[in-house]
Amino acid sequence: MSLLEVKHLSKHFPVKRGLLSRPTGFVQAVRDVSFQVRAGESYGVVGESGSGKTTLGRTVLRLIDPTEGEILFQGTDLTRLDPEPLRQLRRDMQMIFQDPHSSLNPRKIILKSVGEPLVIYEGVSGRRLADRVLELMELVGLKKEHMYRFPHELSGGQKQRVGIARALALNPKMLILDEPTSALDVSVQALTLNFLEELQKKFSLTYLFISHNLAVIRYVCDRVAVMYLGRIVEEGQVDELFDSPAHPYTKSLLSAIPLPEPQQDDDQVLLEGDIPSPLNIPSGCSFHTRCPEKPGEICRREDPPLVHLSPSHSASCHLCGSREA
Ligand code: SF4
Repeated sequence: MSLLEVKHLSKHFPVKRGLLSRPTGFVQAVRDVSFQVRAGESYGVVGESGSGKTTLGRTVLRLIDPTEGEILFQGTDLTRLDPEPLRQLRRDMQMIFQDPHSSLNPRKIILKSVGEPLVIYEGVSGRRLADRVLELMELVGLKKEHMYRFPHELSGGQKQRVGIARALALNPKMLILDEPTSALDVSVQALTLNFLEELQKKFSLTYLFISHNLAVIRYVCDRVAVMYLGRIVEEGQVDELFDSPAHPYTKSLLSAIPLPEPQQDDDQVLLEGDIPSPLNIPSGCSFHTRCPEKPGEICRREDPPLVHLSPSHSASCHLCGSREA
């Protein structure tokens, strides 16, 4: 059963110029994105910087309002909720940010940062608050002494654990994790991923896991969506998609994962140029300006639909002929 269902979600930011701040164009950060996340699974969203994955995560939580589309969480459409019911529903959906340092108030000791949701939502205070925070700190592998420190007195890995403790304070059902390990030392990344897996099992959590790192997605996720210029271009079970990628963009991303033996890198598909600006999305297939498959006229003219390649795998490329998804 789906815990989260996103339907035709778009987010466009107006670009304003001139004295009257009139919009002169729109940054199309997320374009007509639909997907479902089942209760208890880890759903990955992967893509280069500028693919729209972070905007997608923030829009799903309605930290920013969508331009179009629906976000159904347990059947309730978040896009139609007034501020108070939305605030209450956010107890069940929490976000873990990429930079653990900037997500914590540098002037507050950790006890206050972790306890803040408990104070705001449940009115917990005094001894009870300190006890609840200590429980959360121990849950994430930190000690009582860390409660009375400021963020700058903790390591990157410890700060990320503080962010996780804070996100777990209200017993959420779902965590949206935006590049949760990319700001950490390599040695701490694997520990944090293992820890997130343990937490998921222990509390039956559902993850929306956003990352640019395919190796991390493969390690953590059950299913994955590959994003390019605000669109999902391929989606599937992780093993199926990694073993048989269909979209040329996915193939190039996978070929760029470093191999243990450098001489095995013969199959690497190098993408030319940078990702185009979401202010000027290329016509037709938006990947045609970089596609290594020698795009034809149809690629420049028509946006390929997402088609099913199997019941659990779909892709949008004119080379993937099958029925529409
Ligand atoms: Fe490349 Fe054409 Fe497929 Fe787009 S539709 S990915 S340009 S082959």
